[in-house]
Amino acid sequence: MPVNVNQDTCIGCGACVGVCPVGALSMNDEGKSVCDEGTCIDCGTCLSACPVEAISQ
Ligand code: SF4
Ligand code: SF4
Repeated sequence: MPVNVNQDTCIGCGACVGVCPVGALSMNDEGKSVCDEGTCIDCGTCLSACPVEAISQ
């Protein structure tokens, strides 16, 4: 299962994109982080990188 990024909570800082070991996270056209479900390995690294706790597993 990929992580879920709360689009209302995400402030678009990009921190999670930089820490993902497999490049599963990217910024969408609205400046929010989104997770590619086929790429995410569910490692949980991005959860602790987010300053606003927008990512959940
Ligand atoms: S859980 Fe791991 S693999 Fe999935 S998006 Fe977060 S950092 Fe990347
Ligand atoms: S770290 Fe959190 S606030 Fe920053 S882009 Fe990722 S999900 Fe959004």
